[in-house]
Amino acid sequence: MQSPAQLAVFVMTHLQTNSNDKPETLCARAAQHSQRIALIAENKSTSYAELIKLSSIVAQQLLSILNTEDLGESRVAYLVPPGLDHVVIQWGIWKAGGVAVPLAVSHPPAELSHTLEDSDPSFVIVNSLYEEKIQEATDGDLLVIDSSELVDGNFNLDPNNPELPSINPERRAMMIYTSGTTGKPKGAVVTHAILVAQITSLAEAWGWEKNDQIILVLPLHHIHGIVNVLCCALWTGASCQILPNFDPVDTWNRLSKGDLTLFMAVPTIYMLLIKTWESAKPRNRSRWSQGASTLRLMVSGSAALPKTALERWKTITGQVLLERYGMTEIGMALSNPLHGERRPGYVGTPLPRVRVRRVDENGEELGHSTQEGELEVAGPNVFLEYWRNPKMTEDSFRNGWFRTGDMATVDKGDYRLLGRTSVDIIKTGGFKVSALEIEEVLRQHQLVSDCAVVGIPDEDWGELVAVAIVKESSGEIELNNMITWAKKYLASYKTPREFRFVTKLPRNAMGKIQKEQVKLLFLDSSET
Ligand code: AMP
Repeated sequence: MQSPAQLAVFVMTHLQTNSNDKPETLCARAAQHSQRIALIAENKSTSYAELIKLSSIVAQQLLSILNTEDLGESRVAYLVPPGLDHVVIQWGIWKAGGVAVPLAVSHPPAELSHTLEDSDPSFVIVNSLYEEKIQEATDGDLLVIDSSELVDGNFNLDPNNPELPSINPERRAMMIYTSGTTGKPKGAVVTHAILVAQITSLAEAWGWEKNDQIILVLPLHHIHGIVNVLCCALWTGASCQILPNFDPVDTWNRLSKGDLTLFMAVPTIYMLLIKTWESAKPRNRSRWSQGASTLRLMVSGSAALPKTALERWKTITGQVLLERYGMTEIGMALSNPLHGERRPGYVGTPLPRVRVRRVDENGEELGHSTQEGELEVAGPNVFLEYWRNPKMTEDSFRNGWFRTGDMATVDKGDYRLLGRTSVDIIKTGGFKVSALEIEEVLRQHQLVSDCAVVGIPDEDWGELVAVAIVKESSGEIELNNMITWAKKYLASYKTPREFRFVTKLPRNAMGKIQKEQVKLLFLDSSET
């Protein structure tokens, strides 16, 4: 009997091959685009041909460091800011037969230390900016290689005749550590074939083409930036301009040039762009709005997009954001359409070749019922395994379907997310309540800038609905008025009973609200 992961690879292989050849890997395909511009970073353009050459040199060096002809799926961790070196190193690892383990530049040494211990790499490649951090994280126990020496080093190797291993697409390619809202982050492993399945599904659904131009403002340790932006662009032969980090004014100025075709970001980024636009001079506002209106597609995902942000963005730019749903373990699963109606609050329908279903608490498929259920996903896009954790891998599948832990309903074929079973589905007084639904309502209040709803343990109710609110600076919220207002839109059992006012919500490097930390605001009463 085949495991779900083996089945996925089998399906993938049959989708992507003809009788003569194997499915391509991302790096192998790049030769088709050789003279086109692949990357723009640090004011320099790099062609696909150059990217191929530079990454081959890196691959050769990695092999010579370990004195081997094939890294044989050894893990290679790298802590390198987004830019040309980052991509060259990622491709170099792949071409040498290694498994790429991207580290988050925003993580403190303690978190890096967990990722390094767990992934057990042969060495770690570090940009000098982060050398101290990595020394603290590794305690000097790991071979550390300077990234600029690796990329710029004057090595006596022949880039035109690289002796590099042939990479079977079914080999492991990458481990991305998941955000880990509960427990420690886990390494989600994908093969080259799974990566290609994730890319090609998106490339088809969103109509990626050679002439597309995108900017990357997302970090490169997370699936959103790696797959949806960078890999999709490089698969298609498009150009990706990498900004060193996200800055709202720089991003607006870049969007306003009018040459970009695509933009992808998390809701927090869109919200920051909106705030920056609102406090800008009228002349800048109109230039920015005009530039952004010319893109062919703007996408939001990785967390729920508040309807208020969707509407405001439309007013400012004329663009209706395309919201999609995905996860490190499955790539992208659901998306609003490229052409056609994008319903606010919905994440659309399954992407090409991705199978999605909802099940009840007993794992029974819900079919056409509108009842809420947990999303399960299958297809060639689904990850291979949690690294060195067969038990957790096995537990995360049910009859070949990956259990996402996300709850959803369906209306006329479109999925609507209700949140994660573990943190966003609150059980209060016997009712199941979606934190996301309550947040949507509270954000409509004119004095609420942002909010996060959680369930906190309570003897009488099981869980109590509680909310942390960031106020608009313009006024004071009177609690009784707020509750009366909320009850106009929410059933009584959904209306929050506990409130905390905070200056900002705890978020991770991807801008996702850390609900476990929000809960602590209520459990530790000194922090009111
Ligand atoms: P990550 O693996 O870090 O990408 O996180 C995946 C999780 O983000 C999913 O399991 C969802 O809980 C959440 N998520 C992703 N996209 C959306 C979306 N469009 N709306 C709501 N939640 C989302």
